[in-house]
Amino acid sequence: ASYRIMTSPITDGAARGALIAFEDVTELEKAEEMRRDFVANVSHELRTPLTALLGFIETLKGAARDDAVARERFLTIMEREAGRMNRLVSELLSLSRVEAEERMRPGERVDMAAIVRSAITALKPVAEAAQVEIELIGAEAPIHLLADPDQMAQVFSNLIENAVKYGGSGKKVTVEITREPREIGLRGPAVRFDVIDRGEGIDQVHLPRLTERFYRVDAHRSREKGGTGLGLAIVKHIINRHRGKLKIDSAKGKGSRFSVILPEN
Ligand code: ADP
Repeated sequence: ASYRIMTSPITDGAARGALIAFEDVTELEKAEEMRRDFVANVSHELRTPLTALLGFIETLKGAARDDAVARERFLTIMEREAGRMNRLVSELLSLSRVEAEERMRPGERVDMAAIVRSAITALKPVAEAAQVEIELIGAEAPIHLLADPDQMAQVFSNLIENAVKYGGSGKKVTVEITREPREIGLRGPAVRFDVIDRGEGIDQVHLPRLTERFYRVDAHRSREKGGTGLGLAIVKHIINRHRGKLKIDSAKGKGSRFSVILPEN
């Protein structure tokens, strides 16, 4: 722990002394350090695609100027890198919006079954490209909860997209909705949403840090798959805002299960 020490002399008639106060500033320092790390991470993440873009612009102005084939190839890479920056900036904005709203309780009753269903529909092209089938269990009847519909759509979009991305080609992804009469850690009844993949799994050592911003098990692989490393951080903040819980179970080589547990208000 670190302390800030403040002293002030006291003179009270004949008595003399000093008041010494210790203030624990460990938390403050930790918050400041996290902010610094975040800014450094954002700068690094933006600089990587930017450096690539600047490099290709140089080449296009010089050596590749009259080479139509090279020009086409470089423009494709530039498009991809600019897309990466665009995604990163959108996710940063999302994260900051979600953080700003974290203290405001969602006040709308929404059908969570419909939200999960449309998240799956929106991911159909991505799943098909990866030859992944997404099955949905338990969404036959509507499930009404107090929730922010856009944010919940984002939660399931991020989790299901990860399951498809890291689940492996040809493997199935299962989304299962279950009503829980009582969930440990939440006071009353809850609804549990499991997103299950049969992919590579995640080593136990990574699990506690997985929802930190920019934390990735394999940064190279995540970038290759177009990931920003912010998806799970956004998910975590949204679930906190809904007073829910995120549980991650994973076994290396077998697959992972991300469970969102939301109170039935
Ligand atoms: P990214 O944009 O890199 O996918 P996320 O915040 O969504 O960022 O996820 C953080 C990291 O967690 C990923 O880089 C990946 O290493 C790991 N991860 C997330 N979901 C899964 C999954 N279903 N299976 C294996 N690893 C996963």
